[in-house]
Amino acid sequence: MQDMADLQADQTGNFLKHLAQTNPNPFLVEVDRAEGIYIWDKSGKKYMDMIAGVAVNNIGHNHPKVVQAIKDQVDKHLHVMVYGEFVQTAQVNLAKSLQQLLPDSLSCAYIVNSGTEANEGALKLAKRATGRHEIVSFKGSYHGSTHGSLSVSGNETKKAAFRPLLPGVRFINFNRIEDLEEISEKTAAVIIETVQGDAGVRIPNLDFLRALRQRCNETGALLIFDEIQCGIGRTGKNFAFEHFGIIPDILTLGKALGGGMPIGAFVSSQKLMSQLSFNPMLGHITTFGGHPVVCAAAHACLEVLQTEKWVEEAESKGQLLESLLTKHPKISEIRRIGLMFAIDMESAEQVQQVVDKCLDMGLISFWFLSHPNSFRLSPPISITKEEIQQAGEIILKALNALK
Ligand code: PMP
Repeated sequence: MQDMADLQADQTGNFLKHLAQTNPNPFLVEVDRAEGIYIWDKSGKKYMDMIAGVAVNNIGHNHPKVVQAIKDQVDKHLHVMVYGEFVQTAQVNLAKSLQQLLPDSLSCAYIVNSGTEANEGALKLAKRATGRHEIVSFKGSYHGSTHGSLSVSGNETKKAAFRPLLPGVRFINFNRIEDLEEISEKTAAVIIETVQGDAGVRIPNLDFLRALRQRCNETGALLIFDEIQCGIGRTGKNFAFEHFGIIPDILTLGKALGGGMPIGAFVSSQKLMSQLSFNPMLGHITTFGGHPVVCAAAHACLEVLQTEKWVEEAESKGQLLESLLTKHPKISEIRRIGLMFAIDMESAEQVQQVVDKCLDMGLISFWFLSHPNSFRLSPPISITKEEIQQAGEIILKALNALK
C-alpha cells in the first residue's frame, strides 16, 4: 500500500495505473474544486468550463441550493430500500416537480442512475406495452454504452466489437420523411434524440417531427424522445420537444437533471408505466435508482431553474457566443440551439489543436463521439454575457493560433 503522501504526490500516475482508462489521451486536469462556470486544478490554475461535464452542470458547478439540499438529505437518510417500496420524500418531490413541468401525458417518472439506464427502461417499457420487439433508431444517434442502448446507437465502429447486440433494430436517416415508411405495425418503439448531440448537434425539422409522430400514431409504435443531452434548459426550453409542440410517449432524461449528481429518468403516462408492475411484476427494478440524495439534488436543480431566468436567456446567450465566432475563417459551419454548439473545422487535427490550445489558455472545450470534424461547446446556461465575451476571446485566440 502506498502511504498518503505518495498518493497525493502522484495522483495522475495512480489515475493512469489504477483507474480504467477509456482513451489514449485523457485531459488529465487534476481537479481541486469547482464553482459556477469555473474549475480549479491542484496547481491553482482556473479553467472556464465551456462543456459543463458534457451538458451536465447546466446551473453551474456546486450551486449553493443544490449543495444545501444534498447536505439536508444526508442528515436525514441515505439509501433505505430498493426502488419502488418505500415512500421517500426526496423522490416524490422530484417526480412532482417533473410532472408540473411536463404535459399531462408525461406524469409518471421512473428514476434510475444514468442516461443509458433510462433508455434501457424506456425500450423495455415499449416492448412490454406493445408486445413487439423491433426498434427503429436514427443514423448518427447516441443513446448510451450498455448493451440495449448501444444496440440502438448509430455509430457502427463503437458497436462492432460487442456483437451480437439486440436483434431487430433498424436505422433510418434523421430528418428524412420518406424513411419513416420503415416504421411499421411490427415496431415497438422509435427512439430519437430530440436534438442529436453526439452526431454534431443536428436539429430536426418541424415537418419531420410531425410526420414521425403521425407515423407512430398510425402504426402503434411508441415514440421515445431521448433528451438526456438536450434536456433541462440547454436549448432555451425546459425540454427540447417544447420547441416543436410534439409530445413523445416516453421521454428519457439524465445528465443535467441531477444538478451534478448521477441520475436518469424515463417518463410516460401512468397507464403506460403501470405495465412494468405486472406480467411480470417487477418488470424493471433497480437497487439505487431514485437515491434520496440524488433526488434531493435534482429537485433543488429544477427549483433553481424555475426561479432563475437562465432557460429563457439560453437562446440569446447562444446567439451572442455564435456572433463572436461565426466570421472566423477557420470555421466552416456552426450548428446551434440555445447553448448547445457544434463548430465545424476542416479536420479532426484542427479540432484537437483548438481543444488543446483552449485548455492551455484555461478554457475547457471538447469533441464529439461521432463527428470528429467539430468541436463542442455546452457551457452552463448560468454563464453571464461578460463570461461569454471572455470565452469568445480565448476561443478566437486558439483559432488564430491554428497552423
Ligand atoms: N443519450 C444521450 C443523447 C446522451 O448524450 C448520453 C450521454 N452522452 C446518453 C444517452 C447516455 O447517458 P449516460 O452517459 O448517463 O449513460
